[in-house]
Amino acid sequence: RASAHDALTGLINRHHMQTLLDEEVRRLRRTEQAFCLAIIDLDHFKQINDRYGHAVGDAVLQGFAQIAEATLPGTDRLARWGGEEFLLLMPETGLPTAQQRLDTLRQRIREHDWTILGEDLCVSFSAGLCEPGGRVPLYRDLERADRALYKAKATGRARTVQADRT
Ligand code: GH3
Ligand code: MG
Ligand code: MG
Repeated sequence: RASAHDALTGLINRHHMQTLLDEEVRRLRRTEQAFCLAIIDLDHFKQINDRYGHAVGDAVLQGFAQIAEATLPGTDRLARWGGEEFLLLMPETGLPTAQQRLDTLRQRIREHDWTILGEDLCVSFSAGLCEPGGRVPLYRDLERADRALYKAKATGRARTVQADRT
């Protein structure tokens, strides 16, 4: 378990997600079955640590993971991609559905009562979304998703931005 999972959140780790992504790209090239991926980054997470402490920050990461796993379809895979960043793989999913799914998750995260962890605590995330085409290496799609995430941050956070087409 330890080699494929993140100890704090119980999600799969970056290394294991990389394997799943490779498989998904092979499937796409073979069957043209579309999939989407999203890089999700918690907003102003440093401020949460600074104001409420690192233990609360950790609990927010765990809470986010739990809500996401309860909200997303079982066929989706969510990984802890880095500190407060997550990578969501949505097999057999096109952009409009992926966008809706992220909107639903955003709402669940917003509605959740985080004040159990800290007075006035609110949590939101920004996301960069893309549908890989299978014609370029996946790292290029991840770069596109990352640029879209940057745009989501720059235009006010708490939103999903779809990546530009390659
Ligand atoms: P932005 O909205 O632009 O993403 O701002 P941000 O504060 O979320 O981003 P920034 O990259 O400045 O800060 C991320 C913080 O996440 C810094 C780091 O200390 C914290 N962090 C990373 N991993 C962990 C962890 O496992 N636990 C806790 N508590 N904090 C973590
Ligand atoms: Mg970050
Ligand atoms: Mg952040």
